[in-house]
Amino acid sequence: MKADYHIHTEFSDDSVELMENQIERGIELGLDELCFTDHVDYGIKRDFDDPRGIEYRGGDGINSSEETLKPFANVNYPEYFSKIKKMQEKYGTRIKIKSGLESGIQTHTIPDYEKLFDKYSEDIDFILLSMHQVGDKEFWTQDFQRGKSQKEYNEEYYDEIYKVQQTFKNYSVLAHLDLLSRYDQAGVYPFDKVKDKIAAILELAIKDDKGIEINTSSWHYGLVDTQPSKQILKLYKDLGGKIITFGSDAHSTKYLADHFEDARKIIRDEIGIREFCTFERMVPTFHLI
Ligand SMILES: [Zn+2]
Ligand SMILES: [Zn+2]
Repeated sequence: MKADYHIHTEFSDDSVELMENQIERGIELGLDELCFTDHVDYGIKRDFDDPRGIEYRGGDGINSSEETLKPFANVNYPEYFSKIKKMQEKYGTRIKIKSGLESGIQTHTIPDYEKLFDKYSEDIDFILLSMHQVGDKEFWTQDFQRGKSQKEYNEEYYDEIYKVQQTFKNYSVLAHLDLLSRYDQAGVYPFDKVKDKIAAILELAIKDDKGIEINTSSWHYGLVDTQPSKQILKLYKDLGGKIITFGSDAHSTKYLADHFEDARKIIRDEIGIREFCTFERMVPTFHLI
């Protein structure tokens, strides 16, 4: 059983890959199941039907040219969910297709995500809880880190995730839990210095029956460790965590299910977790790794 539970498509502001292409590549790769998880980032992006209108930007977020302009907005929900249904009808005998979202949440945007979940709960199988910004400041541009010590921005990042988790429960797994490390120009921040904060996050996730993801994009980003790190994965296991998903975070077919075999070996043989999960209407099903 092979399932990729973190995939982006044309419905994300930073991807132009058609759903059909991801599905056909998935079939080629022998995936049994895939779950689309396109971006929602309230705080920095608006919904398509926002009365204030939406912005258009270049696909890379900075250099815009006429041809590459894309809506800088959240998923167009009605079109997204209806296309997933069409894809399920078209490809359903060859691959299982699930309907998810990647919620890039922050404490001040929690009410927006609560509203979104209430409105579309019938359509949603799975939600990634991600943190892409804090205080609407991006990590990849260094806006969030600028002017802070490595200790300050790392602690603030994990504190913000923990605060979100305390009130927000409409999610399935914590995505790329140590994402900030991907953009940390000061190098790897020692695990021991934030271990207590990470343990609190994992303990709360376990108590709420939530899981974590192993995000295999770490390989093509050239990170020195898995994402999250092996130490975090091990801590999750030691604290009694059982729910894990595999996600490539592919924004194009090139990276679909990328390095899944490596990730499976690490989770099974090094971390010692023997099962992974797929989801339907937010309920996990366990499969042998
Ligand atoms: Zn993400
Ligand atoms: Zn993603």
